[in-house]
Amino acid sequence: MAFDFDLYVIGAGSGGVRAARFAAGFGARVAIAESRYLGGTCVNVGCVPKKLLVYGAHFHEDFEQASGFGWTLGTPGFDWATLIANKNREIERLNGIYRNLLVNSGVTLHEGHARLVDPHTVEINGQRHTAEHILVATGGWPQVPDIPGKEHAITSNEAFFLPELPRRVVVVGGGYIAVEFASIFNGLGAQTTQLYRRDLFLRGFDGSVREHLRDELIKKGLDLRFNADIARIDKRDDGTLNVTLKSGEIIETDCVFYATGRRPMLDNLGLENTGVTLNEDGFIAVDDEYRSSEPSILAIGDVIGRVPLTPVALAEGMAVARRLFKPEEYRKVDYDLIPTAVFSLPNIGTVGLTTEVAIEAGHRIKRFESRFRPMKLTLTGIQEKTLMKLVVDADTDRVLGCHMVGPDAGEIVQGLAVALKAGATKQVFDETIGIHPTAAEEFVTLRTPVQD
Ligand code: FAD
Ligand code: NDP
Repeated sequence: MAFDFDLYVIGAGSGGVRAARFAAGFGARVAIAESRYLGGTCVNVGCVPKKLLVYGAHFHEDFEQASGFGWTLGTPGFDWATLIANKNREIERLNGIYRNLLVNSGVTLHEGHARLVDPHTVEINGQRHTAEHILVATGGWPQVPDIPGKEHAITSNEAFFLPELPRRVVVVGGGYIAVEFASIFNGLGAQTTQLYRRDLFLRGFDGSVREHLRDELIKKGLDLRFNADIARIDKRDDGTLNVTLKSGEIIETDCVFYATGRRPMLDNLGLENTGVTLNEDGFIAVDDEYRSSEPSILAIGDVIGRVPLTPVALAEGMAVARRLFKPEEYRKVDYDLIPTAVFSLPNIGTVGLTTEVAIEAGHRIKRFESRFRPMKLTLTGIQEKTLMKLVVDADTDRVLGCHMVGPDAGEIVQGLAVALKAGATKQVFDETIGIHPTAAEEFVTLRTPVQD
């Protein structure tokens, strides 16, 4: 059968754009559909605008630090509307870059909502297109639990476009997005409360990291409440929101921000017209080469719910393009030792095993930890501390995990991830000469293991 395209990609986000561009570059006839915004979540309502807001929020502390270095400033003022307008302009620029990248690599762009009609046919804007392979890269969407008054809550999607900075915010959740936005709101000057339903947020991160960040956030004035959850939200006539906690306590606020996880974006996708099945968590089930249970349909990125991070979606998109159209260059995605950062203030950077997972996996471990006040703060009154930690296998000396809480933790841990991928031992770390004076040099000068 002759198809209109070799590959039809649904969703022009991180994974879809990467797969489409590279497949076209390998000579395939490729089309991509996008219903909302080029570049997907990361560019429009994710990584990029989030990081811009985090930079914005940090100025608060920069001004405070400046006086210690002899600078005199007027009273700093902050204008949310300016930040959002400038952010929007930058995102529009990036949307244009994505459009050019696709068009210049020969990909046919269809703007509209795509729906599967059968295993080889996509319908968009009333037109049908056939393809030998269809790649679903439709990403995810925020999920808000079904509580009375949930319609008064916002999610990250809306937070990026609020007309003004709320005076008071309640953030719900204890994952990446909740922690990052609590720092953004707090740093920009909103009176911020963060609620998390269990004992300590950032479940899955190293225990020392979770505790250290908790302590630093409390120092910065964030009202952190653990073992706390919302029972209902009521809007008063004056617009104030009354948040009733399960404990019965009522918090008055101007904004309730939910970051309680993301579901796969499968709305009106037409999966029922195909043999695609979902896994037990509701994400598209795929094998290790991203094939769904329908042979012509593949899926990557957040919609498969494996590791919902942009660099992972990019790697998966690349793997699909190579396997289908340049098999001689195909390599499976390696999910081992994926580094990650949480852009809270201060940042977390982490790669490899946590203490808890290393012990659970049967390693006999040594832990090396350092807590110190960064040099930049020594002329200021700010008492923020940095944490650096290595988890080492006591038998093989291999470094199993690197964890940091502190300025630029993501930048520092990215380099250490290369060392861990290369199998570095603690001895290799010890033999590496530091760069002085930096915070990062602490990772190669940790000498004494923590005694339990
Ligand atoms: P997406 O980027 O979500 O793209 C999917 C695209 O498909 C969207 O553009 C959507 O409009 C389109 N689409 C959906 N259905 C259809 C349809 N039927 N027809 C046509 N088009 C359709 N990751 C990081 O690595 N670092 C970070 O700092 C980071 N920060 C984040 C902050 C926030 C607030 C959020 C929400 C996410 C963040 N992420 C971060 C995660 C990252 O954004 C995602 O992992 C990544 O975007 C997933 O890429 P994807 O290609 O799977 O999907
Ligand atoms: P996460 O899965 O990271 O966190 C969800 C949080 O919400 C958890 O603390 C969870 O608690 C809590 N939660 C879930 N359901 C409920 C509920 N019904 N009531 C109360 N609390 C609930 O999701 P996010 O939305 O924060 O982010 C989605 C993904 O996007 C992340 O996992 C990450 O992969 C990616 N991302 C990456 C970023 C980065 O790289 N810097 C930044 C932002 C997002 P519990 O622990 O009890 O399950």
